[in-house]
Amino acid sequence: MLYSKSFINTSRENPKVAECQSHRLLLKGSFLYMVSSGIYSYLPLGWRVLNKINDIIRQEMDSAGAQELLMSALQPIDIWKKTGRDKDLEEVMFRFKDRKKRELCLGPTHEEEITEIVKRYISSYKQLPFTLYQIQAKFRDEPRPRFGLMRSSEFIMKDAYSFDLGREGLEENYQKMFEAYKKIFRRFELDCVIVEADSGAMGGSVSHEFMVPAEIGEDILYFCQVCGKYYREKEKCSSCAGIAEPVKTVEVGHIFQLGTKYSQAQDAFVLGRQGEKVSLVMGCYGIGVSRVLASVAEVSSDKKGLIWPKSITPFEAIFLVLDETKTEEIIAIADSLESKGFSLLVDERKEPAGVKFNDAYLIGSPYIIIIGKNYQKSGKIEVEERKSGLSHQISPDKLIDFLKSEYRR
Ligand code: ATP
Ligand code: MG
Repeated sequence: MLYSKSFINTSRENPKVAECQSHRLLLKGSFLYMVSSGIYSYLPLGWRVLNKINDIIRQEMDSAGAQELLMSALQPIDIWKKTGRDKDLEEVMFRFKDRKKRELCLGPTHEEEITEIVKRYISSYKQLPFTLYQIQAKFRDEPRPRFGLMRSSEFIMKDAYSFDLGREGLEENYQKMFEAYKKIFRRFELDCVIVEADSGAMGGSVSHEFMVPAEIGEDILYFCQVCGKYYREKEKCSSCAGIAEPVKTVEVGHIFQLGTKYSQAQDAFVLGRQGEKVSLVMGCYGIGVSRVLASVAEVSSDKKGLIWPKSITPFEAIFLVLDETKTEEIIAIADSLESKGFSLLVDERKEPAGVKFNDAYLIGSPYIIIIGKNYQKSGKIEVEERKSGLSHQISPDKLIDFLKSEYRR
């Protein structure tokens, strides 16, 4: 991709509306466009990152045996009346009537809808177990949308739902998802703390939250520095009796053992081995996909700008062509690397070096490849590794090996 042809429109000014680091960097780098408070559009840069996040989630969900579907965002209120959650979630629901006076909402979550779908097709214990998931926009009329994608009125969630014949199956599926979540967050390079949680409006018993420590977090955990343990309640550390200090955290994932709350209310059952009626035993598993994007931006930057993890960077390397006479040569090198599967940006604009560096830092690629005046003499280009700050002098024909080894391909 050539910079001059791209829809990358970074800004020099710090956006006035920005409420925290990630919000500032994502707006400034033109990853996001703020439509209105709590409502965002993903610009090409943000969309690239989001798609990489989704790819990782899909890979791990699929390898845990879950199957992807896509449910409607518009839902009839009737299905919510069956569980009574039309009342429980009344305040957060965007709710309205269509021209035929039918009551609808924009789905804040999908337990009711998935239960309706499953009960239409499943009638025997032989069809169990299975897990379904989707990646989709959710809508919640939050009392205080803030911090950009951290808490927005429209956001992207991965929600998965497991269906089992009994408690044992549910626990097995829950454990599978628990392990998949650990892998997913590790691939995003997010150091998550996993804590037992309250099931709240979702219902059920066992529940775990995946939390990222960050200054702007709205949830507080207590951390014992001696033992490295986190606690939900302010209490002395149970291991060393030292004082656990409060730490702010962001909830990026939440998994629940729902049991039969929804299947009983919605009459979703199968016939068991002896022909008896058995209510489906459910689990549900959420990841705040757009909140993950913001969380990574929040914890992965330095004074110069963003440093995306290699797994979700919008471009795996950015070429800064500072010697105009080399433009054609560098474009040819980038083309050949792209044909081998690397996503690259070539900044061939006629702009001062300072502007190009600044933009590269705002875009946040982990590798900046600098083609300066001394390339002519030395035949070497410089690669700045953002995370370590190391600089490598490499001849262009070695670039492919360098990127292959850095990206483990
Ligand atoms: P919170 O406590 O932050 O309000 P929640 O517990 O209501 O979130 P869940 O219903 O568990 O959220 O939804 C699953 C995931 O969706 C959450 O773990 C979170 O990462 C994400 N999420 C929830 N609400 C929002 C929002 N308004 N904006 C962005 N992401 C959200
Ligand atoms: Mg939650």
